[in-house]
Amino acid sequence: MTSPVATTTSAAGVRWDLSDLFAGPDDPALAAALDRVTRDADDFAAAYRGTINVVGGPSVEHLLAALRHLERVYDAQGRLGSYASLAFAADTQNVAIQNAQQRVQQRLTAVNNTTLFFDLEWQAVAEADAERLMADPRLADYAHSRRVERLYTPHTLSEPEEKMVREKDLSGVTAWSRLFTEQTSALLIPVPRDGKVEAIPLDAAFNLMRDPDRSVRRAAHDAVYDTLKPQEQLRAFIYDTIVQDRLTMDRLRHYPDPMAAQHLYNEIQPAAVETMMAVVEDNYHLAHDYWRLKGRLLGLDKPTIYDQYAPIGQTARQLGYDEARDIILEALAGFSPAFADIARQFYDKSWIDAEVRPGKSGGAFCSGVTPAVHPYILCNYTDSLRDALTVAHELGHGIHDYLAGRAQNIYNYHPSLPVAETASVFAEITVFDHLVARQGSTADQLALLTGTIEDMMATVFRQNVLTRYEQRAYAARASQRLTPDLLKGFWWDANAPYYGDALQMTDGYRWGWSYIPHFIGTRFYTYAYVFGELLVLALYQMYREQGAAFVPGYTRLLESGGSAAPQDLVRPLGIDLTERAFWQKGFDELARLIRRAQQLADEV
Ligand SMILES: [Zn+2]
Repeated sequence: MTSPVATTTSAAGVRWDLSDLFAGPDDPALAAALDRVTRDADDFAAAYRGTINVVGGPSVEHLLAALRHLERVYDAQGRLGSYASLAFAADTQNVAIQNAQQRVQQRLTAVNNTTLFFDLEWQAVAEADAERLMADPRLADYAHSRRVERLYTPHTLSEPEEKMVREKDLSGVTAWSRLFTEQTSALLIPVPRDGKVEAIPLDAAFNLMRDPDRSVRRAAHDAVYDTLKPQEQLRAFIYDTIVQDRLTMDRLRHYPDPMAAQHLYNEIQPAAVETMMAVVEDNYHLAHDYWRLKGRLLGLDKPTIYDQYAPIGQTARQLGYDEARDIILEALAGFSPAFADIARQFYDKSWIDAEVRPGKSGGAFCSGVTPAVHPYILCNYTDSLRDALTVAHELGHGIHDYLAGRAQNIYNYHPSLPVAETASVFAEITVFDHLVARQGSTADQLALLTGTIEDMMATVFRQNVLTRYEQRAYAARASQRLTPDLLKGFWWDANAPYYGDALQMTDGYRWGWSYIPHFIGTRFYTYAYVFGELLVLALYQMYREQGAAFVPGYTRLLESGGSAAPQDLVRPLGIDLTERAFWQKGFDELARLIRRAQQLADEV
């Protein structure tokens, strides 16, 4: 965890108030809540163990009572777990908070083990009985989560087998993954700076590839890949082992192909993903157009890998926290006054921690807590335009969670991964559009616009490239070991169509696969990023076409939370995820932005 250094910025003193959860790590109410949730889980087990998977299935009343009881347990777990992680994020060096977090984690893990039987029993209920229960109107609010749970029935092993897999994983696939993380976070990249060589972490070295000075970018690039090269054998071995483990588990769990488990988790139809990826590839020419523009702006015939994120023009414009708040609320009010009202509560009721201070966790996030409690936002505001957009992004999550929390129970609260970034990115684009319009100079507008286009391309195009690379690797592993040479080849082949002849890949870039944590942590994770970004771009295009008429349907989408699969959530908006035309809409929006950047470049 990186801790930002203390700086005085306009957000000094902007801290959240966690007392809606607990007053502090030593609050007696926290200890009492831990005891209560433990007892409540024990009561749940005593009342329901062995009563769900019974001949003929449980009665509607019985199942409903169980689900409501479990809802209470989940709500208490959500409050406790959220408090512990939020307090820790705000003050990672505080020993009392560290101890409280340990205590909460241990107790909640025990609670999870106590209630685990319920899902296993439900999965085992006979098909006809489960269907009858899920169709009953009294269980309507619970049917979706019950259905999702049942999707895992054919892929779940017996209880002793599941326990053994979990225990063996600790010294198996989990250990390999830990080795990767330890190796990667311990990496020190020797980068020449001011006549000396400085050893810096990988993230910091990648940041230097965004430096305005090309020689700095190139030096960072060379240093990163020169460091990764000699580790190729180790990194390929770790990846090969993990892929083989997953393929073995796929066979034992009866998953038909390497992407099936992730599709199931995402509640996504495989056909929608294939259509989406094909449309992405049909639009690689937009990336080529952009790289050519970028080359022109940088004064290069052909930019290379280490030029792709070079800043264009002045991006140093400052934006104070309060000024940013006014702009964000104004932009949101232009979309929907109700959205602005929700966002205003985050500011007025201290649901945001924006101050930069020692010991606070880096980055930014929004934590949904539970439907019964409002969300909290953490960010580190340093007065840049980027930070203002980050706050807008997190407020988008906050509005989503707030709306879903008012409309849904805890089972239906969190949307699945592909739609989880809808409101956040939508809010970010809304505020971005408002900001661009307010920028005085053409050069400032261009700086903002190129940054955003590059973020979008890194999501829609590059994450698609990563998915194609994984597909190749998993297909190959069925018949051979994954050697460094094979992986370098797959990586190159997956990237080549994206960069085309408009951007020069470097020899070092052949090792680009070897540090990416998603491949290790969760396979086929990255297509959900593509999905989310394109969905939002398409929704934004629909908003620009329909204006105010778009807002009620969009609001209902957010209120729906995770109460249905993505394709069912967006259907009321007239969206069919298996249609090419829908996915193309997102690229039409991206093309519009690229054309705008070209115009601005002509004017500058
Ligand atoms: Zn987000």
